[in-house]
Amino acid sequence: MDTVEPAAARPRAAIVVTGSELLTGTIADRNGPWLAGQLTELGFQVGRLLVVGDRPADLADALAAAAGCALVVTSGGLGPTADDLTVECVARFAGVPVELDPEMYAQVNRTVAEWARLRGNVADAPLDAPLDAALEAGVRKQAMLPVGALALPPVGTAPGLVLRRPGGPLIVVLPGPPSELQGMWPSVLSAAPVAELLTRVPAAAARSLRFFGLPEPVIAQTLRELAVPADIEVITCLRRSELEVDIRPAPGLESRAAVLADEIVARHRDQLVSADGTTTDEALARVLLDRGWFVATAESCTGGLVAARLTERPGSSAYVAGGTVAYSNAAKVSQLDVPAETLAAHGAVSPQVARALADGARQRFGAAVAVGITGIAGPDGGTANKPVGYVCLCVTTDDGAVLARDPVLRGDRAQIRERATDLAMHLLWQAGRR
Ligand code: ATP
Ligand code: MG
Repeated sequence: MDTVEPAAARPRAAIVVTGSELLTGTIADRNGPWLAGQLTELGFQVGRLLVVGDRPADLADALAAAAGCALVVTSGGLGPTADDLTVECVARFAGVPVELDPEMYAQVNRTVAEWARLRGNVADAPLDAPLDAALEAGVRKQAMLPVGALALPPVGTAPGLVLRRPGGPLIVVLPGPPSELQGMWPSVLSAAPVAELLTRVPAAAARSLRFFGLPEPVIAQTLRELAVPADIEVITCLRRSELEVDIRPAPGLESRAAVLADEIVARHRDQLVSADGTTTDEALARVLLDRGWFVATAESCTGGLVAARLTERPGSSAYVAGGTVAYSNAAKVSQLDVPAETLAAHGAVSPQVARALADGARQRFGAAVAVGITGIAGPDGGTANKPVGYVCLCVTTDDGAVLARDPVLRGDRAQIRERATDLAMHLLWQAGRR
C-alpha cells in the first residue's frame, strides 16, 4: 500500500441538546441525530453530541466540553418559561451580557398577541393592545439577546441566535420543537458568520456502500486486511438488514478513499446493494418504475409490514397494486386461492404455500410481481422441524421467475417480522433487476 500525505483534520462540531424530558425517557431526542446528519453532510466531524437537563450547571459543563470545536449548535430552552435557560447560559459562555432587543420585543409581541387572539384569550383585542402580565414577561424574556449576537427570525416565537465565543467556537442557538429547529436551518446556513465558516469546511466527499447479508465481522476483517489509514474514517452500521459502510476521508484523501471503496466492493460484490448509498427500498422502487411493473403482496406472519414498506415512499401508487394479509388457512384459500391440498400436505408454513401465496396475489391483483410470506414469528408455535423464526418467502413474476428462501431468522417476534420484511424487499428487488 502506498504512503499518503498526512491530511488536515476536518473542523469539529459539537451538538448540545437540552431538555430534562429527554433524560427521563419521556421523549426521544429528534434534534441531535438530525443536526448530526446535517453537520456531517456539510463536512464537519461531529465530535460530541451531548444531551443535558435544564440545569444551568449541566449546560455550562456541556458548553465547556465543546469549547475546542469550530462550531457548537444547541437545541432547546428558548421558550418563555423558567426552565428555558439556554440564552443566559450561552451568553455567559461567550462572555457577554444579555440585553433587551427592542425590535425583537416588538416582533415577538406581535406573534404572541396574534396567538392569544386566535386562542380567544383576549377576545377582539386589537393587536397592539397590551398583553397580560404573564405573557408580557414571556415576550420580554424571549427578546433578551446576548450583546453582539445575530438573531435568526423566529419560526415559532423564539428567535435563534448566532454568536462567537472570543477565540472559541461559533455558537448557533436553536429552539427545541423539531419543526421549529428544522424550519430555522436555512437561515442558519445563510447567516453571514456561518456562511463564512462553511467556506473553510472541505466538502464531505463521503462514499456510502450498502450490502445485504454481509455480516459485520466479515467487513471488519476486510477493513483490517486493507489497512485503512487513520485519516479515513470508516463507519459501519446495520440498518434494516443492510450493512452500510460509510467512508469519510480527511481533506486531501478523497482519491485514496475512492480506491478503498472500490477494493471493498470488489471483495463483496455478491452482497452489494449499491455503491452510492441507494437503499434496497429505493432501488426496488426504481426498478419497478423502470420496468413498468406493479407489485402485490400476500402476507401471513408479517401482517402487512411489506405492504406498509412498499407504500412508505411517496409516488408508490405508480407501482404498488395492493396486498392481502391472509393469516388463517381459510383466508389463504378464499382470498388468495392457495390450494387446500397444498396446505394439508405441507403445512401453512412451507415453501409450497409461500409460492402459492405469491402466485395467488399476482393473479388476484393482476400484478407483474408478487411476494408470498408465511412463517413462525413466535414466541410460541415452533416445532423441531419448523422452529420459531422459520420463514418461507417466495417472489414470482409473470415472466416465470421464482425466487424462494426459507431461512430461520433470529430475534424476538418483532425482529423476526422486521427481518422477514427486509428479506422480502430484497427478494423483490432481486427479481426486478434480473
Ligand atoms: P418552547 O417555546 O416551545 O418552550 P424551547 O426552545 O424552549 O421552545 P424546549 O422547551 O426545549 O424548547 O422544548 C419544547 C418542546 O419541544 C418539548 O417539550 C418537546 O416536545 C419538543 N422538543 C424539544 N427538544 C426536543 C428534542 N431534542 N427532540 C424532540 N422533541 C423536542
Ligand atoms: Mg421551552
